Amino acid sequence: MRTSVVDYVDIVGEEVIVSIYRLAARLYNRSMVHINSTYYGGGVAEMLSSLVPLLNDIGIDAGWRILKGSPDFFEITKKFHNALQGDEINLSKNKKKLYLQTNEDFSTYTHIDHDMVVIHDPQPLPLVKFYHKREPWVWRCHVDLSNPNPILWDFLKRFIIRYEEVIVSSEQYKKHDLPVEQRIFFPVIDPLSPKNRELDESIIESHLRKFKIPSDKPILLQISRFDKWKDPLGVLDVYERVRQEIDCRLILCGSMATDDPEGWQIYQKVISRAKNHIDNKDVILITVENHMLVNVLQRVATVVVQKSLKEGFGLTVTEALWKEKPVVASRVGGIPLQITDGQTGFLVEPTDHETFARRIIDLIKNPDMGRELGKRGKEVVRERFLITRLIIDYLNMMDEMLNSRGG
Ligand code: UDP
Repeated sequence: MRTSVVDYVDIVGEEVIVSIYRLAARLYNRSMVHINSTYYGGGVAEMLSSLVPLLNDIGIDAGWRILKGSPDFFEITKKFHNALQGDEINLSKNKKKLYLQTNEDFSTYTHIDHDMVVIHDPQPLPLVKFYHKREPWVWRCHVDLSNPNPILWDFLKRFIIRYEEVIVSSEQYKKHDLPVEQRIFFPVIDPLSPKNRELDESIIESHLRKFKIPSDKPILLQISRFDKWKDPLGVLDVYERVRQEIDCRLILCGSMATDDPEGWQIYQKVISRAKNHIDNKDVILITVENHMLVNVLQRVATVVVQKSLKEGFGLTVTEALWKEKPVVASRVGGIPLQITDGQTGFLVEPTDHETFARRIIDLIKNPDMGRELGKRGKEVVRERFLITRLIIDYLNMMDEMLNSRGG
């Protein structure tokens, strides 16, 4: 059965649900389309899978389209993604050409007739150039924009300035050299999705059996795409340090997104580095996309690790906090918005592997401390990072753009 906004009443309370319906009534039958470049893998797809059906549930005519691109296109946009987070890039004519061509091709067969258009991330950003814009266009950028490569940023700015507004995930990602209005939407999770809902013990056990995951030792878990910014090799190093003091197991779970061609290379590196541990099942690598499994793993983990070097927001942290898990995470990007060090988890400098290991060891040895942090973490998520809040953000934005500004 489809989830409806009223189903969230026990989680967020009646006032929140009433305010959603009030706002929605002002926007009845208005339409909006979201465009990104993958149906699964990564936080954007995850949020859209919940947001779009729920907007429809409250009477907004919301659509979701996927930009189609060749493997070469996604190679290029992955480089863009990395360069937006600060990497060097050789921004050749050919790269620019394929980037624009793919967007132009898509525009020829994708008709847009909505009251508002929301474009997610850099892949479909130039689409705006190929339409006769009749409605407000908003660019929703999910990556850490605090230090973008200047050459790429200059190139992308030509498209961004055609938008009415830009949405970013944190105050520190706002760009002062951008004459476009910028607002912040913190990312969210859906507490009723298969990934986050409460699970019966029998489901947990059957998944552990199916994926051959023993539960005889404490489990450290990082759920993340195999991506250099998520630093899986760094997690292995931390795990080695923890193991010197406590026998435990590490699970790295990362499905491969279609718009992320680097994943398999990094996965191979992890395999060669962890070969011995993989052979005796102390390190378990998982590459399947299975939301229920992610839910199970987050619930059975002893400590959840998020050792990112950069992190737009870090929904995996949100998901773990919602499950009342102690989290040890890097003090980067959006993670400190979610974790207050020592209150709702632990924050560590990403290169400080020794402290990472120390915190994890302390938590394994002291489960009561973990439970306390976890309980407080869940309340922060309830207050600030659930899907109902994102629905309100979008409705407010639509209301401002379509009603108040006379749209
Ligand atoms: N995810 C998943 N399976 C995996 C790896 C990640 O379902 O094997 C999900 C994860 O649970 C989270 C999202 O993908 O919902 C990752 O979002 P996050 O903001 O942490 O990172 P991103 O991938 O967007 O950089």
